[in-house]
Amino acid sequence: MNLVLMGLPGAGKGTQAERIVEQYGIPHISTGDMFRAAMKEETELGLKAKSFMDQGALVPDDVTIGIVHERLSKPDCEKGFLLDGFPRTVPQAEALEGILTELNKKIDFCINIDVDHELLMARLTGRRICKNCGATYHLVFNPPTTDGVCDRCGGELYQRADDNEATVQNRLEVNMQQTAPLLNFYEAKGYLRNINGQQDINVVFAEINELLGSLSE
Ligand SMILES: [Zn+2]
Repeated sequence: MNLVLMGLPGAGKGTQAERIVEQYGIPHISTGDMFRAAMKEETELGLKAKSFMDQGALVPDDVTIGIVHERLSKPDCEKGFLLDGFPRTVPQAEALEGILTELNKKIDFCINIDVDHELLMARLTGRRICKNCGATYHLVFNPPTTDGVCDRCGGELYQRADDNEATVQNRLEVNMQQTAPLLNFYEAKGYLRNINGQQDINVVFAEINELLGSLSE
C-alpha cells in the first residue's frame, strides 16, 4: 500500500493521515519528520540538509530526494507508506518514480482530499481567540454561545492576523498553483483518486477505506 496524500490547507489531510496510518500500520512519512530523522541520525545527507537549513537556505532537490530514497528503503516501508508533503513539484514526483522503480515498488494511489475553495476559506478564517484567557473557538466547528464573547471568561474574541481573509486567500492560491501540476501528473499516471473532503470526517475516512480495500482484492 504505497500512497501519496494530497490536500490543500484546511482539507483535513492531517486527520485522515493519522487514521490511515493507525488503520493500516504503514509509516506516515512527512518531509519535516524525514529531515529531522536524517539530521538526528547524522547521515551524510542529513548533515548536508542541515548545513543548508542552518543558513536559512532551501534544501536542494537532490538532497531531499536522496533523503526520501533512504527513508523509503527502510524495512518499515516494506508493507507500504503514506507520503505527505512530498512530492511538492513535478520534478520531485518524477524523481520519486525513479526511486520506486529502483526499489521495485510503485505508487498505488495518490489520494487527493478535495474541498471547495469557499469551504476552505470558511474553515481557515473561522478561528477566534479570547483576548483575555486565550481560549480558541471556531465559527463553524466550535462557535461561542454569544457572538464575539468568550464562554469561559466573557473576554472579547479576536481573529489572528494569520487567519484573515487576504492572508488565507493568498496561502490557498500559492498552494493551488503548486499542487495543480502535481495532480495532473498523477492523473496522467492513473494514480489520482479524488475524495470529497466536504463530508463528515468519518465519511471521508470510510471512502478512503473503501478505496484502500480495493487494493487487497
Ligand atoms: Zn476567555
